[in-house]
Amino acid sequence: MKLAVYPGSFDPVTHAHLDVLKRGLKIFDRIIVAVGEHYAKSYLFPQEERVAMIREAVKGMPVEVKHFKGLLIDFAAKEKANAILRGLRAVSDFDSEFQMAITNRKFNPEIETVFIMTRGMYSYLSSSVVKEVASLGGKLEGMVPQNVENKLRERFV
Ligand code: ADP
Repeated sequence: MKLAVYPGSFDPVTHAHLDVLKRGLKIFDRIIVAVGEHYAKSYLFPQEERVAMIREAVKGMPVEVKHFKGLLIDFAAKEKANAILRGLRAVSDFDSEFQMAITNRKFNPEIETVFIMTRGMYSYLSSSVVKEVASLGGKLEGMVPQNVENKLRERFV
């Protein structure tokens, strides 16, 4: 059984995140989505709400959603994960992802980082774009699952 941890902010989860997750499930038997809390970031949705939105969106998939604090690599080791899964949108993601993957390998060489390239149609899609569109009252069709759209609408009435 191959297990991956897919970490991120997911503030909120988008169809692009879910696409990476579904494609990740072609490689891994099970994935744990690890919803982070980073001291330097401010979030629109608190961690519990971000977790709840993903749980609803992944119903029926072999996916668990957990929150984590501290070092991702320690969390991944505690969960006995084989790999860390990340998505890549553009070359601009590469530098920081490369740095993070190398650092994580230094801490624990047993756990590989695996990258899945964005699907072209989602290359523009990020949680920031979604929040921007929602705050301006724009259409969120094709960007986020319905439960997330509802939450965003509640936020920006
Ligand atoms: P983080 O703050 O850790 O970057 P995000 O929620 O922004 O958290 O992203 C989580 C993961 O999903 C990251 O690996 C990110 O690269 C990936 N991701 C986000 N949007 C896309 C997209 N449009 N295409 C591919 N991967 C994506």
